[in-house]
Amino acid sequence: MEILIIVLIALLLLLAIGDIRRALITRPVFAFFQRVLPPLSPTEREAMQAGDTWWDAELFQGRPNWQAFLQTNAPHFTPEEQDFIDNQLETLLAMLDDFEIVQEDCDLPEAVWAYLRKEKFFAMIIGREFGGLDFSPAANSHIVSRIATRSISAAVTVMVPNSLGPGELLTHYGTTEQKDYWLPRLASGEDIPCFALTGPEAGSDAGSIPDTGIICRGEHDGKEVVGIRLNWDKRYITLAPVATVLGLAFKLYDPDGLLGDDKELGITCALIPTNHPGVETGARHLPLNQAFMNGTTYGKDVFVPLDWIIGGPDYAGKGWQMLMECLSAGRGISLPALAAATGHLSERMTGAYAYVRRQFGLPIGKFEGVQAAMGKIGGTNYILESMRRLTVTALMAGKSPSVITAMTKYHMTEMGRQVMDAAMDIHAGKGIQLGPKNYLGHGFMATPVSITVEGANILTRSLMIFGQGATRCHPYVLAEMEAASNPNQDQGLLDFDALLFRHIRFGLANAGGSFLMGLTAARWVKSPVSGWTGRYYQQLTRMSRALALTADVAMLSLGGDLKRKEMLSARLGDVLSHLYMASAVLKRYEDEGRQAGDHDYVKWALTHHLYEIGRAFQEFFANFPNRWLAWTLRLLIFPVGNHYKRPADRLYQAIAESMMEPSVTRERHTFLCYWKDDPNDVTGHMELAFRAMKTNRELYKKLSKAEKRGDIPPDLNGEALVAAALEAKIVDAADAESLQACEALRITAVAVDQFAPETLRRQPKEAR
Ligand SMILES: Cc1cc2nc3c(=O)[nH]c(=O)nc-3n(C[C@H](O)[C@H](O)[C@H](O)COP(=O)(O)OP(=O)(O)OC[C@H]3O[C@@H](n4cnc5c(N)ncnc54)[C@H](O)[C@@H]3O)c2cc1C
Repeated sequence: MEILIIVLIALLLLLAIGDIRRALITRPVFAFFQRVLPPLSPTEREAMQAGDTWWDAELFQGRPNWQAFLQTNAPHFTPEEQDFIDNQLETLLAMLDDFEIVQEDCDLPEAVWAYLRKEKFFAMIIGREFGGLDFSPAANSHIVSRIATRSISAAVTVMVPNSLGPGELLTHYGTTEQKDYWLPRLASGEDIPCFALTGPEAGSDAGSIPDTGIICRGEHDGKEVVGIRLNWDKRYITLAPVATVLGLAFKLYDPDGLLGDDKELGITCALIPTNHPGVETGARHLPLNQAFMNGTTYGKDVFVPLDWIIGGPDYAGKGWQMLMECLSAGRGISLPALAAATGHLSERMTGAYAYVRRQFGLPIGKFEGVQAAMGKIGGTNYILESMRRLTVTALMAGKSPSVITAMTKYHMTEMGRQVMDAAMDIHAGKGIQLGPKNYLGHGFMATPVSITVEGANILTRSLMIFGQGATRCHPYVLAEMEAASNPNQDQGLLDFDALLFRHIRFGLANAGGSFLMGLTAARWVKSPVSGWTGRYYQQLTRMSRALALTADVAMLSLGGDLKRKEMLSARLGDVLSHLYMASAVLKRYEDEGRQAGDHDYVKWALTHHLYEIGRAFQEFFANFPNRWLAWTLRLLIFPVGNHYKRPADRLYQAIAESMMEPSVTRERHTFLCYWKDDPNDVTGHMELAFRAMKTNRELYKKLSKAEKRGDIPPDLNGEALVAAALEAKIVDAADAESLQACEALRITAVAVDQFAPETLRRQPKEAR
């Protein structure tokens, strides 16, 4: 024993001597690290280094500080924002008729375009000094969401100028002259912007755009100047058909060295008026029948001056970096806002419809099968809204969190799709038959748009979330990668040496912590709150530690291969995302004062997240190529098995019942859903029918009993039902009047539209 201790002490002393430690351990590990390091293209490196980390890093590192997390400020509005939301937004919503927009005009009405311009809906992210609204992410998200519950086409039209594009790029990088010229014009709506990156050959791989700009001499405004000769062919560009100013991304080359020695400057962004000679705006696309403007733009040998580069000539070749730095804000707000709208609309309208629609003598929402789908809608909408708020919280704190916004974009749009599917299943024929009475159909059709844009979802899940998360959120890996790729190898080795032993300590602590927490079900882990949610904090801390351990093992053993093993890295991304979503749920629950009406929703959500985390780990272990490591990881993380289960049936039922009760809980959960107090309105008719049936619920019970006794004939509806009830003295005259009005509303609410055949006939080919 003494000998062992002496050997150990001698070893530690040797390791304490830098040169010996570096020669014996660090150098071979350094060489190994350089060998397994994923080869990074410059665009990947820029994407990886862009933006910030926030709560994602704490979850990734296995030691989340819940106390500090819970103390971050919840999103709020300024008085100006609240006033706009109460007035201009409400006015706009009342103007929108999505059937007319999509099916009749395939465009927003002129009055709506004019109102959007006049009230500066396109200028939410432009500073006040330039005439913009300068709204916060919270207001931007709220406004886009609420519009989307009315019309996806209108929401996308508003969303795009307030997302990544000329406004955002000018604000961050524009020269004083560019800002002074363009921003007031964009703010007033005099100019409408679009941003063109995508082309026929470059979609997800946007870094490979073939569009070029060649630095050369040419004539501009009658003078010979150094400028850029542009060639581009872009498709799918939102607002392009109506844009007056085009933000264009292209690759810039300087073959004659007019700017310097660099011949390939890289991706560059310029701002070009669409009436500039040679700029061609193509015809419109028809994105799943939605009416927002989307189309093509192209140009051949178009000469523009150098100072049309956003930021001026200093920003030549910096386009990709600019896009990556600015991507986060829009990605965390715009498409998540559309998904939140789907959640709020689906929960409110499906709860109402499931009560109003009766089959087999009961509201369909009383059947367990329907309750399963309703529970999913209500539970998922709680998560959607929680995630929307938490990501907005990060953006309000001035962060530009690239991993969080990738998770938010992917998961919210996927959850939006699931909620929409469930809502459509419950509405059945009522959701399918398009017409002015259908409030779901256009949203259902538009769902893939959100899945595809701003980072198509498969790519975002498979490549971005963990791929970026692992390097951005890890306490050491990014610095180690930088050390390994340092052209000065000696300095690289020194930097690496300083990181390596801290990294080893981190890994060992994660392994020990995971095992202990697994053995004890994390009961000794400190929770930041008292009460029943405390156990969830403990479990989430445990899974966070497990992720830190697994991520390290995966990176160490697979190295660069992990990038190609997209299915594996996607699962680790899922773990991080579910940890983030569960945190969002817990934070919302605390921020809203632990509402009793939310208990079942919160339990459903947290049980679901833990189940999904457990499942992602299991599938990761089952498919990890090194079986010995997989087995060890499973033993360390789930030493007594994975006990996370799906939410219980009881929770689905409780949520379904809650969705069918007019209550403050229902109001809080669906506040983004617009409805007008008008039986002719698309969502108003369903809401009014639901409320009327709830008011008359005791009368309906009486009728049902009378029907069972045989006092009134079965299967009567509307006037016939009321007349029979009156005649059999089941109800008095006042009740009959109330019932009559309620039945009229119910019948309108379950009705669908019909069209005379000639009104549906398309124009003959030659007239198109
Ligand atoms: C309605 C609409 C509006 C748009 N608006 C604009 C706009 O205003 N400006 C603009 O520049 N662009 C715009 N786009 C383009 C949009 O950003 C692209 O469609 C998107 O980048 C995907 O490109 P793609 O459609 O060519 O798909 P592809 O790149 O061909 O991808 C096809 C599929 O393969 C997956 N995939 C690709 N590579 C990988 C990988 N390495 N790993 C895993 N999966 C992968 C993708 O996730 C996707 O599911 C718009 C698109 C649409 C449909």
